[in-house]
Amino acid sequence: MWRETTRHERNLKIFREELDDFLPEKILDFHVHIFSADVLPAGETYACAGHPIAKYDFADLERDLAEVYPGRRTAAVCFGLPLVRYDMKANNAYVAAGADHRRFFPLRLFDPHEPDRAAVKRDIVAGRFLGLKPYLDYVRKADAGAVEVAEMLPDWIMQVADELQLIVMLHIPRRGRLADPLNQRQVVDLCRRFPRAKIVLAHVGRAYYRKSIVGQLDGLKDLPNLYFDLAMLNHWEVLEYLFRTVAPEKILYATDLPIALAPGKSVEINDQYTYVTPVPWDLSISDEHRKLVFTSFLYEELRAIRQAVERAGRSHDFVRGLFYENGRRLLPENPGS
Ligand SMILES: [Zn+2]
Repeated sequence: MWRETTRHERNLKIFREELDDFLPEKILDFHVHIFSADVLPAGETYACAGHPIAKYDFADLERDLAEVYPGRRTAAVCFGLPLVRYDMKANNAYVAAGADHRRFFPLRLFDPHEPDRAAVKRDIVAGRFLGLKPYLDYVRKADAGAVEVAEMLPDWIMQVADELQLIVMLHIPRRGRLADPLNQRQVVDLCRRFPRAKIVLAHVGRAYYRKSIVGQLDGLKDLPNLYFDLAMLNHWEVLEYLFRTVAPEKILYATDLPIALAPGKSVEINDQYTYVTPVPWDLSISDEHRKLVFTSFLYEELRAIRQAVERAGRSHDFVRGLFYENGRRLLPENPGS
């Protein structure tokens, strides 16, 4: 089984020794991908950190939340897989139908090329979507590294997001990521021009190594409608810098399930980062010599969060906010109840 949960004794040991006395009672994961089998082209699988899967549905999520966080009450913000080859309409419909607005909260995949703007707004309202998940691939540029935030989120959809007070789960583009000056300008612009939209920088703006974050939050940290999700951040130095720099209520626990359940770790090497995984994956260096025993990206993230909390001297209230209350405030109803 590729999923690193407490069903494996080695992960149960980590949970008992390192996480059980740290994790609060309620956990809201703000970044989860959900897709049913009909979303992928027939016969295709999705390479989940190198492990082929055909689906990750609500039943899978419920099982995994129970196995990853034993004894905790859990909830999640869920959206589809934002890849152009996949059936976005089917994925959005599945997420909307399965989200109960008590434990699971839906965001809608958004493609800026959707032709009927009124229909997009109707679909958001009818599906009771609480926000949008744009993605750089949907811009369909030959050079994915040249995509701009403004192309992922044209004004017409931001006007809808502002009017309906939607969450916008933004995976920022461009090679410089958080440190890219154009990204910084366009994020500030979005937040100021659409103040009722709630903009979440996924993966802390994809700042996975120290130099990609130090000094890069100064122009962003005071925007009242900007938030930071921690998905796939395995690096305590990055997290400690974030915790010391932005207001606590802006920080949202998030994982990027199902990828975060795979064995692996994100590591910094010489002012860059890569993933290290036991099996080959496009985004990783893999351990062909089988030198290492891995746990999940998710448990590595929890270890890094704990380390950063302790180093920054943050309180239990900070931890409760990070894992649950901060995210809950962005949602209209009480999750996890
Ligand atoms: Zn994601």
